Amino acid sequence: MTKAFATAAYDALMAFQRQTEALAQISGRLGWDQETMMPRGSAEQRSEEMAAIEGVLHARRTDPKIGDWLEKIEPVDGEVAGQLRLIRRSYDRATRVPADLAQEIARVTSFAQGIWAEARAQDDVPTFLPMLEQVIGLRRQEAAAVAGGRDLYDTLIDDYEPGASAESLGAMFARMRPRLVALREAVLGAAHQPAPITGAFGAEAQMRMSRKLAAAFGYDWSRGRLDIAVHPFSSGSGDDVRITTRIAESDPFNCFYSTIHETGHACYELAIDPDYRLTPLGQGVSMGVHESQSRIYENQLGRSRAFTGWLFGQMRERFGEFGITSADEFFGTVNRVAPGYIRTEADEVHYNLHIMMRFDLERALIRGDLAVADLEGAWNDRFAADFGVAVDRPSNGVLQDVHWSCGLFGYFPTYTLGNVYAGCLHKALRESVPDLDASLAEGDPAPATDWLRENLQRFGGLRGPRETIAAACGVEPDEGPLLDYLEAKFGGIYGL
Ligand code: ZN
Repeated sequence: MTKAFATAAYDALMAFQRQTEALAQISGRLGWDQETMMPRGSAEQRSEEMAAIEGVLHARRTDPKIGDWLEKIEPVDGEVAGQLRLIRRSYDRATRVPADLAQEIARVTSFAQGIWAEARAQDDVPTFLPMLEQVIGLRRQEAAAVAGGRDLYDTLIDDYEPGASAESLGAMFARMRPRLVALREAVLGAAHQPAPITGAFGAEAQMRMSRKLAAAFGYDWSRGRLDIAVHPFSSGSGDDVRITTRIAESDPFNCFYSTIHETGHACYELAIDPDYRLTPLGQGVSMGVHESQSRIYENQLGRSRAFTGWLFGQMRERFGEFGITSADEFFGTVNRVAPGYIRTEADEVHYNLHIMMRFDLERALIRGDLAVADLEGAWNDRFAADFGVAVDRPSNGVLQDVHWSCGLFGYFPTYTLGNVYAGCLHKALRESVPDLDASLAEGDPAPATDWLRENLQRFGGLRGPRETIAAACGVEPDEGPLLDYLEAKFGGIYGL
């Protein structure tokens, strides 16, 4: 085989890949539309449209030409090796899943999302369960096709977090849990409790503040936009990365911190080396690494004492008096710890306990150790045990999250992994930028976002997930820095 021949095969492979990536972006934009703009009566047709494009994508991802090209290309290093690693991985996975199964999963999960939204609005678990049963059955079939004898749940996790396993994540959660539970008990038992936010905060003013926050964190409005969604998300790669937020008039932090969170996701995608656009390297490397970006923007930066001091002034200017009179008090209110029902509204102390609960439940569902009919009971029992509160209605319990209706099993643990990675990155960032608080206090996180762009975001998928974090931090990631950060921050706020 000559070198020239290998280069021709690589060029042909990459040209083909580029079109596949472009079609995948189109499919993603249909998904964005479904959550933001689509008329309610269009759900059934949309599920057919999604299945059709999924069929095209699956045919391209399993095209035998890819196998031929891969065979002709000699082993290489660097960026080309990175592209080939991701193409080979996708090809190996996709060729194991029968085309009709892939299309059926796209059709059913698109439809199930609508059923879930209605069921959640009506607090109607029985309507949703047969749909969930179908989704789990299809994802189990898919995992079995890919697994080659491996654990089905591990196979699903690997889709979102290459290299992670239920065993390694479960062991990490077990190490984290005692310190989180001890911190939760100390905080809830503390004599001084910050006041919750009260009052009404107009929707338009919240959106204006959201736009200002996204801009402060470096969001590029020429390549993005902000809309409202039930469950905030970001969508897209390259030069079109959109974000969404939600509005509750009584809780402006929900809107502001959803916006900062999604800005973190979007800035990661927008910062990736433009040479990687519409190639496999041109996307965040894993869900855990992605979440580390959204979390560090939202929590370690956005909920810091320095940044909330600036936000307090902004809110007084925009909303007038709202019952909180000092920046210190405001810092406590923003970071107030309370055992609420909803994961996405959870404080930093409770958040990972929500994830550990979903991890155990979904692992049991996929392994067949928990029947769908028993899920609500199992959820309610576990919630009462972990949070000390009884679930009052299904929309505050088992129906609160969209993930399972979309077939996203194995995704939840990547949220806590993201928090752990954010803890590691934050420690390294503070060592590199010791005077960061001076900028944050002016409402300017740029020294932090520049550091993240330079040390992590621009590389996209070049390295594996753990390697990406280790390269940015200079050490192997573990849960220690996150737990140290939480104990120091909440110990300070609650006078522990
Ligand atoms: Zn996120």
